[in-house]
Amino acid sequence: MTLSFDLPKPLNVAVPPAPVTLKDSPLYLPGTSCLIKHQVPLANFTSFKVGGPAEWFVAPKNLEELQASLKWAYSEKLPVTSLGAGSNLLISDRGLPGLVISTRNLRYIRCDQETGQLTASAGEPMAAIAWEAAKRGWEGLEWAIGIPGTVGGAVVMNAGAHKRCTAEILVSTQILSSDGTLENFTPEDLGYSYRTSNLQGNSRFVVQATFQLRPGADPEKVKAATKEDLAQRHSTQPYDSPSCGSVFRNPHPHYAASLIEQTGLKGYRIGGAQVAYKHANFILNNGGATASDIFQLICYVQQQVAERWSVRLETEVKILGEFQRA
Ligand SMILES: Cc1cc2nc3c(=O)[nH]c(=O)nc-3n(C[C@H](O)[C@H](O)[C@H](O)COP(=O)(O)OP(=O)(O)OC[C@H]3O[C@@H](n4cnc5c(N)ncnc54)[C@H](O)[C@@H]3O)c2cc1C
Repeated sequence: MTLSFDLPKPLNVAVPPAPVTLKDSPLYLPGTSCLIKHQVPLANFTSFKVGGPAEWFVAPKNLEELQASLKWAYSEKLPVTSLGAGSNLLISDRGLPGLVISTRNLRYIRCDQETGQLTASAGEPMAAIAWEAAKRGWEGLEWAIGIPGTVGGAVVMNAGAHKRCTAEILVSTQILSSDGTLENFTPEDLGYSYRTSNLQGNSRFVVQATFQLRPGADPEKVKAATKEDLAQRHSTQPYDSPSCGSVFRNPHPHYAASLIEQTGLKGYRIGGAQVAYKHANFILNNGGATASDIFQLICYVQQQVAERWSVRLETEVKILGEFQRA
């Protein structure tokens, strides 16, 4: 008996291509060669070395790309987060929604010998401008050498050290609003006080800042003073493990470090996060800490200090994204 059967005929049906969504394809900002990336892990963009992914991430190289980034976020109805060196940020393990704009590619320093003014872009490290000033024999930025943040972060945070701060030397700052307007602001416009400005918690973007320095000193003398400031910091603060510097603001007239130390919390750990022995206002990532470990430790320190001293410690570190108290 012979069995015969027909081979199935190939179906001549066009298979529709997989739908191309915004998230599948590399995206360039309209009219630029600037890439917007999807789901970029942020841990390596913060000094704590923790944090989940940015939904979208862009690192513009100039003002046009920065403006295009904001415009794109606006058109896609996405929230925007500005990211400097990430040295004052605790980002959730779940990451951040919307567009994260990094200033890492916005780099220039201009010095005006006649006026003694130094202008630097948002992404320029504070250490770089402090050293540039020192090499020229310009005084006024020695204190900034050990601050591991950027010019943009310093203007927003009113960063300071050795009883000096950003607001004291700021002449003006150029700021981009979410509607694309570019404006110059003076320190008087920015509501400065201790580690605070009215730029915190809103979507205005610091593009550049101009500082008034004092030219005419011996460069060797200014370099020596700058190195001394750095050495002094390294001898009193733990720089060998990831941290965000001081976690809490000093609650006037107290020092946060002293209250934490006297509460017996030096060395206290939750997961991979630990209150530093060298400086009790530092929390260290001792390897393998999650953002949640650090957050729980912050809450624990706040609670213990409040119980012991009736003082509520406010955080200096900016806590971004979703966190849950244990
Ligand atoms: C070891 C160590 C030591 C430290 N010591 C000091 C110290 O002595 N004094 C001190 O003041 N701080 C200190 N810090 C904290 C930190 O360096 C400062 O707060 C710094 O100014 C933050 O700058 P950043 O570029 O890292 O900002 P980020 O941490 O990236 O951001 C801080 C805030 O500024 C916003 N931001 C950043 N850039 C821009 C921009 N261009 N436009 C608009 N918003 C922006 C962010 O959205 C965020 O709200 C220390 C940190 C570490 C890790």
